[in-house]
Amino acid sequence: MSDQLIDQKTWGERYDATLMNTFGHPKRVLVRGRGADVWDADGNHYTDLLAGLAVHALGHAHPAVIEAISEQAGTLGHISNFFASPPQIMLGERLVALATLDAPGTAARVFFTNSGTEANEAAFKLTRLTGRRRIVAMEGSFHGRTMGALAITHNEHYRAPFEPLPGEIVWVPYGDIEALSRAVDETVAAVVLEPIQGENGVVEPDADFLPAARRITAEHGALLWVDEVQTGLCRCGAWFAHQRSGITPDIITVAKGLANGYPIGACLALGEAADLFGPGQHGTTFGGNPIACAAGCAVLRVMEDEGLAQRSTELGAHLADAVTALDDPRVDTVRGQGLLRGIVLNRPIAAGVADAALDAGWIINAPRPQVLRIAPPLIIAAGQLDDFVRALPGLLDAAQGRA
Ligand SMILES: *Cc1c(COP(=O)(O)O)cnc(C)c1O
Repeated sequence: MSDQLIDQKTWGERYDATLMNTFGHPKRVLVRGRGADVWDADGNHYTDLLAGLAVHALGHAHPAVIEAISEQAGTLGHISNFFASPPQIMLGERLVALATLDAPGTAARVFFTNSGTEANEAAFKLTRLTGRRRIVAMEGSFHGRTMGALAITHNEHYRAPFEPLPGEIVWVPYGDIEALSRAVDETVAAVVLEPIQGENGVVEPDADFLPAARRITAEHGALLWVDEVQTGLCRCGAWFAHQRSGITPDIITVAKGLANGYPIGACLALGEAADLFGPGQHGTTFGGNPIACAAGCAVLRVMEDEGLAQRSTELGAHLADAVTALDDPRVDTVRGQGLLRGIVLNRPIAAGVADAALDAGWIINAPRPQVLRIAPPLIIAAGQLDDFVRALPGLLDAAQGRA
């Protein structure tokens, strides 16, 4: 039978029979996308307000990315890390330039991976080479699912079945400068934090937290490691969200938005940290492969040419203002920066609202029981956001009706 003729229910049954049950039953089986629009196997249309979890910043099937991937695949698709390729070197140079925008002349180097958790894994190993072992991590954090990244991820439900994890992790409340300054001493290798905690429900610390973290780590010779896997690359209205605080970290990890859905991640190290890894101390077969890097180069070029950091700032403010203007008593506040937004509800009905939204043709998610996350492609039209905001009161009604 042609794949086109198989309905969603049948695909769902085949999924359940075959795929490991790590994600539950799929909400939909999607077959096609363009820009911020996507279609399921039954032909239903959705407006994508989540971008594959803050990934395809340029939307589905962006011509510049298609061209870059196709051309590279037809030229040189994979080598090995015995060799280098021009796209890898060019993407590395571009990331170094972006990471040192506010600190020109600072040394910086990149290690390419295939995912966010691997970027953090590389960073974790890098911190061990300082000769110190202790890591200070934040309550509410999410850094990925491999053993090292899991060790610094706070959610007990994710961690507990897999313990023991790599040790010497000290937890401090996110945003608590006092607690951070008590936790950091000469035994600490690194402090790891997200500029905004996306998985925790788009939680922002006060504006003085990142500068304080920079000061405290510098005082004790500890590295400041900023996980920008979700917040980086224009998502929050700047190339990197931490740049809004005017700080320069020692380690930056990125992934999600870097190649518009083609798997890639990167661990950037700045200053002295740039030279911690030596030959043989880390590696990867696929990381930095020419196709992923060509896709990354195309993404960064479009972001620059189309001013997507600025667009993210403007559309994010537009969305927040529009939701606030609804003046709906069930909406507490809208938080986040750029186009990484959390709509905070005054009751724990977010999962029901996300389900009602999907039924009505909008893809959003509920990272916390009271929080809806909106992280659309950065190229989305303002009108598409407006349509969603107009529908939101009805979706809240529907969720209350279901509860
Ligand atoms: C998604 C995410 C990760 C993990 O990335 P994967 O590509 O899923 O491994 C790590 N850190 C943050 C902040 C994330 O949002």
